[in-house]
Amino acid sequence: MTDTLPERTPMLIGGSEHEAADGRWFPIYESATGAVLSQVPRGGNADIAAATDAALGAAAEWRTMAAAERGRALARIADDLEQQLEPIARLLTRETGNAIRRQSRPEVQSAVDLLRYFAGGAAEVKGETVPLGPGLLNFTTREPLGVVGAMTPWNAPVQLAVVKCAAALATGNTVVLKVSEEAPLAVLAVARLAQQHLPLGALNVVTGFGDEAGAALLTEPRIAKLSFTGSTTIGRLVMGKAAERIVPVSLELGGKGPSIVFPDADDDLTVNGVVDSMRFPRQGQSCTAGSRLLVHASIADSFTAKVAAQVEQLVIGDPLDERTDIGSIINERQFDRVDSFVRDTRERGGRVLTGGARSAGASSGFFYTPTVLADVNPTWPAATDEIFGPVLSAMTWTDEDEAVRMANASSYGLAAYVWSHDIDTALRTADRIEAGWVQVNRGLGQLPGMSYGGIKESGMGREFSIEGAIDGFTSRKTTTVGIRS
Ligand code: NAD
Repeated sequence: MTDTLPERTPMLIGGSEHEAADGRWFPIYESATGAVLSQVPRGGNADIAAATDAALGAAAEWRTMAAAERGRALARIADDLEQQLEPIARLLTRETGNAIRRQSRPEVQSAVDLLRYFAGGAAEVKGETVPLGPGLLNFTTREPLGVVGAMTPWNAPVQLAVVKCAAALATGNTVVLKVSEEAPLAVLAVARLAQQHLPLGALNVVTGFGDEAGAALLTEPRIAKLSFTGSTTIGRLVMGKAAERIVPVSLELGGKGPSIVFPDADDDLTVNGVVDSMRFPRQGQSCTAGSRLLVHASIADSFTAKVAAQVEQLVIGDPLDERTDIGSIINERQFDRVDSFVRDTRERGGRVLTGGARSAGASSGFFYTPTVLADVNPTWPAATDEIFGPVLSAMTWTDEDEAVRMANASSYGLAAYVWSHDIDTALRTADRIEAGWVQVNRGLGQLPGMSYGGIKESGMGREFSIEGAIDGFTSRKTTTVGIRS
């Protein structure tokens, strides 16, 4: 693959390249420059139906294949992806605006690691025997659900598509994936590699808009499971559609992660960890961002000043430049939304310690300076809403109960962070936080094998682990045998 992209990039159905049934295309833009990278098909009902036909056609071969053989296929995809890591990371950088060194390259490597993890786990899809009494053999097996309808967002498109597809395929399902209309190109490149190691139609990728291709996937009657990563608003819609057909659903939705800093953690390790947890090098466009900084009042001024100073060291600019830490926000709509939270906070009397403006020197793209807000009231939008941008909102507390109350006063429950070197304080607090994932003195992202997912309005289901894949993508069948004596 070179940096010169084809004028049109087809989607993948049944192992071959397809345009939309009605022949429509739409442009994908380079986030940092606004240039058109390529056109992709504007899929709809007929394309989702064709992809589902293909996935059903591949189902018998894939589900009856020895699990270890399925695992070997995933491992071969991982090897090919690793070979192509650099060009795919560059493509990902161009469509998302995410910095290649800090985000896109590690993201593709994470996809390789996830494929290897699920390759190894494929043969772990086991059942149990249950001792019901003499003359009875009762055992369970785990069966694939069938065709999984997967939907993914734009912020880490390769990692989030691969984790779903690898988990679903490892457990014997076939997949129709509807990729984000903002960033489908790198995922299509990964899927083209994957095709070579899978039965034709086991993995299908449909491009298009949410209210067209996405809506068609939600109502396609032959889809056996909906697996969605995206906003809470659309997640609610997905769950409603799943309820109408009584199909299982997993939802990885939004977040507004608390990051609680105790007085003993006013140090560089915590400052660096808080900056990592805010995912500034992905422009804060992360559901796991620790975007609510809850810092003890006694250290608030010194700690937030250190965070602001650290954030100011981050280099904003061309995401393909190896020196860059922070690239471009995905698009103008998202840029304006981020800025509106900062303006609102200013108008309400909050302080902007650093950032809060378009990056000087940016002639195109959506480069926003990483921002730390202080004196934020916990009821203001910057403290309650998922901004999904490079904005950290600092608030203070004076006793542990208050910190926990503030952390839990959110409709979300995805990721949380606790910073203290006192093990009792840290673990006691971690235990009381309402979140699917609490990190103590660590601010980095998910690793294969950890059961990752949310509670409350952050969703349901766990997708980064083999046990999550088994729970989410198989059903348990019981067989009871009467044995003659
Ligand atoms: P989104 O909800 O707008 O879109 C996600 C996917 O749903 C896209 O493929 C989109 O085309 C599709 N979609 C949109 N409208 C639809 C409709 N009416 N019917 C069917 N499908 C539809 O989310 P986004 O803006 O792409 O991503 C940002 C959001 O994703 C944030 O809220 C973020 O927190 C969340 N997210 C969550 C996780 C997690 O693991 N929990 C990870 C990444 C992103």
